[in-house]
Amino acid sequence: MEVKLTNLMETLVQLKLDEVIDSLGCCKCEKCRMDIASYALNRLPQKYVVTTKGTVFSKLDTLSIQYETDMLNVLFQGAKLVSENPHHDDFDSDNT
Ligand SMILES: [Zn+2]
Repeated sequence: MEVKLTNLMETLVQLKLDEVIDSLGCCKCEKCRMDIASYALNRLPQKYVVTTKGTVFSKLDTLSIQYETDMLNVLFQGAKLVSENPHHDDFDSDNT
C-alpha cells in the first residue's frame, strides 16, 4: 500500500482556490494561481498527515470547515497582491 506524507493544507488551499478564483477578480494563469497559493500557504498552518490512497479526502472535510474563513481571507489577500504585482510576465503563458 502506498503511504505518503501529505500537507493537507496544501491540497485544501488548491481546491479552495479553484472554487473561488472566479470571484477573486485576478489573473487565472498558472503562475498567478501558484503565487496566490504560496502566499496563502505561508500564512496558514501546515497540516501534515500520513495518508494511504483514498484517505485524504475524509480528513479534508473536517479541516475545510475548520479553516474555511482563514483560507478565504488569505486567498483574497494573496489575489489582491498578485493582481497589483503579477509575476506572469517572467513566463510564457497564454494570459493576455
Ligand atoms: Zn497571471
